[in-house]
Amino acid sequence: KIYYDADANVSCIKGKKIVFLGFGNQGAAQAQNIRDSGIPNEDILIANREDAYAEDARQRGFTVTDDFESAAKVADVLFLLIPDQVQPRVFNERFVPTLKEGCTIVVASGYNVFYKLLNIHPTSNVVMVAPRMIGSSVRSLYEKGKGFPCFVSCEQDATGNALEIALAISYAIGATKAGAIESSVREETAMDLFAEQALWPNIIVLFQQAFSVLKDAGCSDEALCYEMWMSKEPAEIFERAAEEGFISQLKHHSTVSQYGQLSGSLRLDGSALRKHFEDILHNQVLNGKFCKEFSKIEEDLEKKGDENPLEQLYKKAEASELGQAEARVRSRLQSSS
Ligand code: NDP
Repeated sequence: KIYYDADANVSCIKGKKIVFLGFGNQGAAQAQNIRDSGIPNEDILIANREDAYAEDARQRGFTVTDDFESAAKVADVLFLLIPDQVQPRVFNERFVPTLKEGCTIVVASGYNVFYKLLNIHPTSNVVMVAPRMIGSSVRSLYEKGKGFPCFVSCEQDATGNALEIALAISYAIGATKAGAIESSVREETAMDLFAEQALWPNIIVLFQQAFSVLKDAGCSDEALCYEMWMSKEPAEIFERAAEEGFISQLKHHSTVSQYGQLSGSLRLDGSALRKHFEDILHNQVLNGKFCKEFSKIEEDLEKKGDENPLEQLYKKAEASELGQAEARVRSRLQSSS
């Protein structure tokens, strides 16, 4: 089902206290959109630690508090818009003990609800309103009077009108203008983590192997970097795929290219890849294995330098043949400009 503006009854969140935990990418965009949709400024409260994000919210005219326990007491609607990995700690320790009965908890990603990492009380509603866009686009599309793709779902309905509230929120942030797609935390998490752990890693390896084979055949680093991504051709292909169609965008390519791409893809046997994809989806994502692994390194992500596991992974990727070649090409380009 796809919900549009006409499906939303925004009066069901009028006069309610709306608390945003976090004023980052999504928080700043969604809070401003909601205010511009007619929710009075005095009904919106930003809960943020005292720092640059809090200052930014204040500069934009919002009321800000770092007293999360008191914010929990008054919240009729609570948006959890801080990074997924810190949500359980902050929500469970600082909101749950004083959370108002009947509060609607809004997540913008399915992760913490699907893996049951939030201590949700039976008297709370839980809804997902998950834009498929970065925060700056959520804001700029709203300002242009356009909508943006978004997933919406009702995960726990304690008050009997949780879906109505989810749709009102979707309307107020500007999502139902383009059509908010009915989904679930399971579907959102499965697709998100599958893309991150199966699709994109394969694309990274695909580019690394293609780079290596062509380099061994005598192609230069410069020519390869430009041919493969620095010309922005892949970005253009994906843009046309979104606008015109995944297959029909091929018609913009030369006849040699169209024939090569269509016949080449039909010659490939995808069955090994399919097995590998199924393995990741079922034995890493849906069974919670990745979530357990990630929970173990979560606190180390705040460490600096080599002790940070993400930094270690970046170092390995940058040390690859493709990473090294690109660094050489980019430094040569900078020195000649
Ligand atoms: P950000 O990384 O932009 O979050 C920054 C905000 O979180 C700031 O207000 C920051 O304030 C606060 N924050 C960070 N650490 C802590 C902490 N330990 N305690 C309290 N507050 C903290 O988050 P996003 O907007 O990227 O993501 C928010 C949600 O939206 C997530 O669920 C994400 O999956 C989802 N989402 C994100 C998208 C995106 O494009 N980024 C797209 C769609 C959904 P401070 O550090 O000052 O405390």
